[in-house]
Amino acid sequence: MSDKFDVIVIGAGPAGYVAAIRAAQLGLKTACVDAFTGKDGKQALGGTCLNVGCIPSKALLDSSRQYWNIAHNLPVHGISVKDAKVDMATFIGRKDKIVKQFTGGIGQLFKANKVTPFFGTGKLLKGNQVEITAADGGKQTIGATNVILASGSVPIELPFAKFDGKNIVDNAGALDFTEVPKRLGVIGAGVIGLELGSVWRRMGSEVTIIEALPDFLSVADADIAKLAAKEFAKQGLDIKLDAKLNKAEVKKDGVHLTYTDKSGEQQLVVDKLLVAVGRRAYTAGLLADDTGVKLDERGRILVDEHCHTGVDGVWAIGDAVRGPMLAHKGSEEGVAVAEWIAGKAGHVNYDTVPFVIYTEPEVAWAGKTEKELKDAGIPYRVGTFPFAAIGRAVAMNEAVGQVKMLAHADTDRILGVHMVGPGVSELIAECVVAMEFKGSSEDLARIVHAHPTLSEAVHEAALSVDKRAIHKGN
Ligand code: FAD
Ligand code: NAD
Repeated sequence: MSDKFDVIVIGAGPAGYVAAIRAAQLGLKTACVDAFTGKDGKQALGGTCLNVGCIPSKALLDSSRQYWNIAHNLPVHGISVKDAKVDMATFIGRKDKIVKQFTGGIGQLFKANKVTPFFGTGKLLKGNQVEITAADGGKQTIGATNVILASGSVPIELPFAKFDGKNIVDNAGALDFTEVPKRLGVIGAGVIGLELGSVWRRMGSEVTIIEALPDFLSVADADIAKLAAKEFAKQGLDIKLDAKLNKAEVKKDGVHLTYTDKSGEQQLVVDKLLVAVGRRAYTAGLLADDTGVKLDERGRILVDEHCHTGVDGVWAIGDAVRGPMLAHKGSEEGVAVAEWIAGKAGHVNYDTVPFVIYTEPEVAWAGKTEKELKDAGIPYRVGTFPFAAIGRAVAMNEAVGQVKMLAHADTDRILGVHMVGPGVSELIAECVVAMEFKGSSEDLARIVHAHPTLSEAVHEAALSVDKRAIHKGN
């Protein structure tokens, strides 16, 4: 054993690196072990989120949106651009530069906070020792009073459509196409399928999404999912519901798909296939046999409500444990665990975690859906407001979608807010604050909102709960 730390974090994704920084801020001697290798062959901190997830996908969503707007949104403003072209090297290169800036930024934050980074694969041994194996096979062991497991997640592979990194790809592959695929197939109309499907649709691909479930975006509120589906269809995203992929064969002229839908067996040939059917917790090689850390029935590290594994001094956070696979959920768990280790009062409110899908229009929500309230027998009132009646949204030519607010019928406490429309990724934050403070729809209704802003849709939806919206019939 070469060194003894107060805290060792395994994994430097948004759960792990945030835990490491917070632990160091609290005066704990902290190390963080991560194995992610960047395109330059060097250590790239930041995990899935910074390297092949949140940040690169948003970079491409923003670039592709600019391109799409030239043909689809600028003419209505009286602006026309002839012969717009995309330079793919610049398109992908800009995304890579942003990734490098942010992964490098974590290295600087580690330096500033005195977190010691280790580059290699960490394995938890009995007694809170961590064996680190470098890429060249070299091994060293370090020990700590506390170990935080933050090993994240990896894409689920379908046995009949295995990733080959070229024709059948996961999220990482779909963020690195060297040319725009003429025909893109996507398996799974979940968050990745919709976001990356949108990127390539905007760049000109014919996009067909095959989704196994009969309902579109069943995790979202049904009204919001319905409105979103209508807008995505207008953009040319061809989403086939209740469709099951049977086979994907790579041939000379593309990937040949066989799937079954309500009408029977169907064939489709695409140039590239993105498989985005969910992610699973990643724990390969993470745990020696005798650590006592347990996995649940879905292979996630088993933890209690305090992210504790039940083994003295061993904690787990982020995508590797139960709960939504979201960067901000993992980061907040990281902060809370560091604070619990330091003897402080950590806190994560899972009931107000916001969900955002960065499509066009965006989809965002927090709290319960209408169906969840109905199923639980909770009495509620609903307020809605369409962006079509919001001056700012109309001025932007983005007046689609609505805000829907659900409040308890007796107490008026806000139980859920669901949105589809322009800028809702930002609007949801106000609702999360209100919900965190146990606010009511009346609280939001009485708050002055700037005019003309998109936030007036939240204000009006809150008024509409009490049937007193000003700019629509109630
Ligand atoms: P990860 O980010 O997966 O990091 C785990 C790290 O641990 C990795 O670097 C891995 O190499 C390392 N590791 C694993 N095992 C070991 C080991 N034994 N030794 C050393 N290192 C190890 N979420 C959002 O909230 N917003 C978004 O917009 C969003 N967009 C996304 C887009 C895409 C395309 C994808 C794929 C995901 C997106 N997500 C988004 C989800 C988000 O990326 C994850 O929820 C988040 O990265 C999970 O953080 P984590 O720290 O738990 O794990
Ligand atoms: P997902 O769970 O969002 O969607 C997967 C979809 O694939 C589901 O609709 C599911 O019904 C469908 N599916 C499953 N098996 C199928 C099959 N055999 N054939 C056809 N469809 C099938 O998963 P994802 O899109 O892979 O994303 C993984 C995780 O990453 C999500 O949990 C999400 O939280 C996270 N993520 C978040 C963001 C964001 O916050 N904006 C963006 C991307 C990813």
